[in-house]
Amino acid sequence: MVVVGGGTAGWMTAAYLTAAFGERVDITVVESADIGAVGVGEATFSDIRHFFEFLGLAERDWMPACNATYKLAVRFENWRQPGHHFYHPFEQLRSVQGFPLTDWWLRHPTTDRFDVDCFVMASLCDAGRSPRYLDGRLLEQEFVEKDGLPSTIAEYQGAQFPYAYHFEAHLLAKYLTRYATQRGVTHVVDTVREVALDERGWVSHLETAEHGRIDGDIFVDCTGFRGLLVNKALAEPFVSYQDSLPNDSAVALQVPMDMDKDPIRPCTTATAQDAGWIWTIPLISRLGTGYVYARDYLEPEEAERTLREFVGPAAADAPANHIRMRIGRSRRSWVNNVVAIGLSSGFVEPLESTGIFFIHHAIEQLVKFFPATGFDPQLQEGYNSSVQHVMDGVREFLVLHYRGAKRADNQYWRDTKTRAVPDGLAERLEAWRSKVPDAGSTYPRYHGLPPYSYNCILLGTGGIETLPSPALDLIDEKPALAEFQAIRHKARALVAALPTQNEYFRRMREG
Ligand code: FAD
Repeated sequence: MVVVGGGTAGWMTAAYLTAAFGERVDITVVESADIGAVGVGEATFSDIRHFFEFLGLAERDWMPACNATYKLAVRFENWRQPGHHFYHPFEQLRSVQGFPLTDWWLRHPTTDRFDVDCFVMASLCDAGRSPRYLDGRLLEQEFVEKDGLPSTIAEYQGAQFPYAYHFEAHLLAKYLTRYATQRGVTHVVDTVREVALDERGWVSHLETAEHGRIDGDIFVDCTGFRGLLVNKALAEPFVSYQDSLPNDSAVALQVPMDMDKDPIRPCTTATAQDAGWIWTIPLISRLGTGYVYARDYLEPEEAERTLREFVGPAAADAPANHIRMRIGRSRRSWVNNVVAIGLSSGFVEPLESTGIFFIHHAIEQLVKFFPATGFDPQLQEGYNSSVQHVMDGVREFLVLHYRGAKRADNQYWRDTKTRAVPDGLAERLEAWRSKVPDAGSTYPRYHGLPPYSYNCILLGTGGIETLPSPALDLIDEKPALAEFQAIRHKARALVAALPTQNEYFRRMREG
């Protein structure tokens, strides 16, 4: 196998495949020293623990090397109105007498914070807590630490609190480079100048600037938005999502942070702005931050100015990284003997940090459908439909954020209410007006998102009214009220017992 590209996608792929297949598959990574990686992508989705565990890496090994922190939720600010916030936590939604707790909350709202009433994690985020005690123990057994390896991403999502990480993207690529090369992966630092095709239109070899010809059976395209193999050489069309997700640009800054003074929030923050939103990702010694916006509504200079004002003086010396985003997916990600993984395969904007999840999911599918005994169209078809559904499903989920946002104070936000939505979402939106989303009423194919995620966005963004199930009028509410109280007690006890992220990581780094 030849992996082209040494960004997050390239090295995650090489590391995972070598962990899966060992020396039975020969892997080479070709990475250009002249063409930079995108340089962002630092917040993850809750499946990511499975990736590190599959590689056999403990948190104390890789987290300090990547300046990593814990992520328990996404915190949404100002999506409803200025000053409002809510969390979309990584925590399964409890159910009482067969009805989701959010449904009970709509019927009996004990406070105006559905997130704090229904989830323990919201209080932990407000208090800046780590999910582990200082001695490394997890906050409770339900976190599911296994002796054996969990077999799929979905198994992680079944855990009560499937938390995620923030990390520095380039440090992770460096760490995984070491991991993979120590296990036999060949690393070639060179630029691919030409992708040679045979008479069938399959890639026969690559021509590099300094290392000449590189042959392979399977080529993995991890060249980022360029899609050098899949889109350029094989001319696979790109299916744009721009009609429903118009944000096509970002400007990013890396802002120094002092771990002794600045609190490390255990969540990614997404703060709504006039033409998009700003992400804030706390790492050990800096913040990653950026404004995701639509060029139809805002010029890059204005976006950068807004971002610098948002961050304040700490950003004064930070150089800005302006990025044009390609939103959508390659029609097929596996074409002939080329498999595109990462931005070359597809990308929706980073609102729910799904880019690295797409990579992880794609690698897991590649192992599942691996053509070990020759190319079989069934394997290719299985892989492509799985990758396609994940991206199309996430696209729909992101559209819900904008459609659901109560904010409608300018043209950008007003347009989010009238723009066409992907097929099927209009009917689902109607259904959710009279019943909170459940497994039967969300995007029907696997997309990595449990129904509670939809509940959080609907109730948090506040622009689409959802009514409680009528049956709740006829069912005793006491068990649900007791559950709200149990969550409050548990949250209070955990906030008192758990260290802050700053305390936890200081201890981890001191050894
Ligand atoms: P890149 O990082 O662009 O890497 C491309 C690689 O290909 C580089 O090594 C380059 O040298 C190499 N290359 C290109 N051409 C050649 C050639 N001719 N020869 C040899 N090598 C070549 N994802 C998340 O999960 N969470 C986030 O918070 C998040 N935030 C994001 C914010 C923004 C603004 C954007 C744009 C993306 C974000 N993502 C996020 C997505 C995430 O950044 C990517 O999924 C991830 O970085 C993978 O990128 P990549 O490896 O596919 O491409």
